[in-house]
Amino acid sequence: MSLSQLARTIHESATLKLNQTAAQLREKGEPVIHLGGGEPKSKTPIDAIVACTGVLNSGDIKYTPVDGIPALKKAIIRYTEEHYSRVVKPANVIASSGAKQSIMVLLHSILDPKDEVIFPAPYWVSYPEMVKLAGGVPVVVTAEDGSFCPTIEEFEAAMGSYTKAVILNSPNNPSGVMYPPEFVADLVQLCEKRDIWLIMDDTYNRLVFDGRQPVNCYEYTKTDIEQSKMVVINCVSKMYAMTGFRIGWAVAPKALVKVLANIQAQTVSCTSGLLQAAAEGALSGPASDLEALRAALQGNRDAMMAALAAVPKVKAAKPSGTFYCLPDFRAYGQDSAALARLLLEKALVVTVPGNEFGMEGHLRLSYCTSAADVAEGVARIRWALDPSSPKEIVIGGKKAVRDWL
Ligand code: PMP
Repeated sequence: MSLSQLARTIHESATLKLNQTAAQLREKGEPVIHLGGGEPKSKTPIDAIVACTGVLNSGDIKYTPVDGIPALKKAIIRYTEEHYSRVVKPANVIASSGAKQSIMVLLHSILDPKDEVIFPAPYWVSYPEMVKLAGGVPVVVTAEDGSFCPTIEEFEAAMGSYTKAVILNSPNNPSGVMYPPEFVADLVQLCEKRDIWLIMDDTYNRLVFDGRQPVNCYEYTKTDIEQSKMVVINCVSKMYAMTGFRIGWAVAPKALVKVLANIQAQTVSCTSGLLQAAAEGALSGPASDLEALRAALQGNRDAMMAALAAVPKVKAAKPSGTFYCLPDFRAYGQDSAALARLLLEKALVVTVPGNEFGMEGHLRLSYCTSAADVAEGVARIRWALDPSSPKEIVIGGKKAVRDWL
């Protein structure tokens, strides 16, 4: 098949593929535990369903304005005011088909060939591929001290004449780390000094634990939004468990939003009005669903930490948010893909290899499943890896015997 050079460099989405694998195994009746998931289990908020059904029942479902229906933009403006203390105008907002599309049209809008986009490891699997798709070059900054938070000096050292943008995702998929406010403040200053775009991917910033407050990047700039090169990305996908609705947005200078809209117009025309109505419904509804989800995830995080503490030699940094953690499994092997394969084959547990996130020897474990699945999944992982654990375990009602250690 003759394919473009660009297409040949783009990898399959490891996380979406694992979802498929887990679904196929479940269909076959296999007692698989999915610790690779990227979406909360809770149901869509009722306000979203009512708003969406209202539009559906009208039978009047047409193209919408490219940058989003006015009601959704209003809800996003209210959200920005409430959670970022920033008053923005409709012209500062564009709604897209998921945060992913917001980021994609943004990258297409700002990158010239060879322009570099910097982000820290561990990083969301899609960033490198999205940057490449937009013609840019991904540049990963890895902390020398082995932590999940590179220093500002390490960021500065990675910057050069081709650097166009930095992406920061806090709290972070896959580690659950929240970058400290001082670090975000320094990064905002550094990007302003260097005249670089700063893309704050705040997809998970309402799902934070232990009474923490999400870091608000606007607090660290005095620059007016129209002159600023800061773009804030968000979505209803994770905070309202509405991944299937595909609604995200960007808040940016008006001049940039115009360009984002041009690219969106020429690629997808607009985002579905039905789904925009649902997002508006969720954003305008009470915060109780979100709080219930946040609290449940915090409980699952605790269950995950307690379970991992029982696995000898695994080092797990406690997440401050999201529904992921990225424990260090190097005591059981350096090759995370091989480790993940072993766990799937022998223990029927889906995990995501850390090499997909720029952290070899680690595995991303999600706790957006039930606390019972977290406990069972980690118990199976221990059985598969730890020679000091009992040789026999029951998986799906059947006795399994470990014969590979
Ligand atoms: N950013 C990060 C860090 C994510 O983890 C995801 C989804 N996994 C997205 C953006 C994309 O979100 P959406 O589903 O709204 O496109």
